Amino acid sequence: MMHKPPTDSDHQEIREAIRKLCEGFPLEYWRKLDREMAYPSEFVEALGRAGFLAALIPEEHGGAGLPLSAAAAILEEIQHSGGNGAACHAQMYIMGTLLRHGNEAQKRAYLPRIASGELRLQAFGVTEPTSGTDTGSLKTFARRDGDHYVINGQKIWTSRAEHSDLMLLLARTAPKEAGRKRTDGLSVFVVDMQVAKSAGLSIRPIRTMMNHATTEVFFDDVRVPAENLIGEEGRGFRYVLSGMNAERILIAAECIGDAKWFIDKASAYARERIVFNRPIGQNQGVQFPLAKAYADMRAAELMVREAIRRYEAGIDCGAEANMAKMLAADASWDAGNACLQTHGGFGFAEEYDVERKFRETRLYQVAPISTNLILSYLAEHVLGLPRSY
Ligand SMILES: Cc1cc2nc3c(=O)[nH]c(=O)nc-3n(C[C@H](O)[C@H](O)[C@H](O)COP(=O)(O)OP(=O)(O)OC[C@H]3O[C@@H](n4cnc5c(N)ncnc54)[C@H](O)[C@@H]3O)c2cc1C
Repeated sequence: MMHKPPTDSDHQEIREAIRKLCEGFPLEYWRKLDREMAYPSEFVEALGRAGFLAALIPEEHGGAGLPLSAAAAILEEIQHSGGNGAACHAQMYIMGTLLRHGNEAQKRAYLPRIASGELRLQAFGVTEPTSGTDTGSLKTFARRDGDHYVINGQKIWTSRAEHSDLMLLLARTAPKEAGRKRTDGLSVFVVDMQVAKSAGLSIRPIRTMMNHATTEVFFDDVRVPAENLIGEEGRGFRYVLSGMNAERILIAAECIGDAKWFIDKASAYARERIVFNRPIGQNQGVQFPLAKAYADMRAAELMVREAIRRYEAGIDCGAEANMAKMLAADASWDAGNACLQTHGGFGFAEEYDVERKFRETRLYQVAPISTNLILSYLAEHVLGLPRSY
């Protein structure tokens, strides 16, 4: 028995539709992919065909024109079903940069084709091996050459690069020293990866502890038409930043879905598993970590809702988006830990899916932003404490 979602959960119809769609992709599907480190192409295609990946694209550009809360509901339900939306979640928030800062020609060129599923915008190239969280120190350089930019450098952890047609790339167009701020001189480009792959762009997959299709990407004199620059040269960091609140909120929603899956799974097992002639769930030592995980998940869920409310009302939501991501990631990790403990030895067995979800949800303590950096943000921007780095 799954715990019943509160009947006042938003977007009930969408949630129901996602649950139905996910029934076609049961736990065995995800388990097999995990074992083979394979990409869930059929799942992503089904989601795209049903229009869910275009949820946030406005209707005038061929999408569903739904609010962020709908995208959050979609991703939460995917995770709650035991699946993993990480294979495709990026499209939902990456395209926001194009939508908000791209010109009409760019929007017309890409958004309808992304909405129809003809083009996949799944790759977001920000992190580099030597810069890490310090985005202002990234080195990949785009040099203007006539009506093109010539790009050289390397990205790391560019997830889904092998399964995407387009990449949103953050690169330097002016040296760090030339700007007033360390993040000046960064620019955003839409890179047509299918073209670039035959002209200087190479992708190397990175094997990770969970199945995430993440890669390293190398740019060797990759020529990108100047018309693919989004907005003004040198202002790219601001454009990307404006999408990061959406990213944090959506990842937080995924963590809530993970936490619900862990709590359901553990509660069902605790009711059924008999040891010492009684269900293990009769012991408070087994009940309490699950009850605590449930309370923590519901509290984090409220913060996710608050961040969404502010986002949708156009009010600054930087603190709430960060807190939602941190609290939801903590809630899913704690729920995962309690779920594994509840399963005893079986928690480690592949066929129970607990160890897979446990590995998958661990990522959100680190990506897309690590817990320390969220705490630093709150200390500096909310509490007015000195910047620590
Ligand atoms: C599976 C996976 C998928 C990813 N997908 C993408 C993607 O698609 N696109 C993309 O651009 N990036 C992606 N990332 C990168 C991700 O955003 C970074 O890993 C993350 O932001 C942390 O950066 P880092 O790994 O370089 O850690 P570092 O910056 O090297 O930090 C290492 C540790 O030090 C701590 N730390 C660093 N500085 C401070 C400080 N000032 N104060 C306190 N603590 C500090 C951090 O909290 C962290 O725990 C992905 C990463 C992974 C693992």
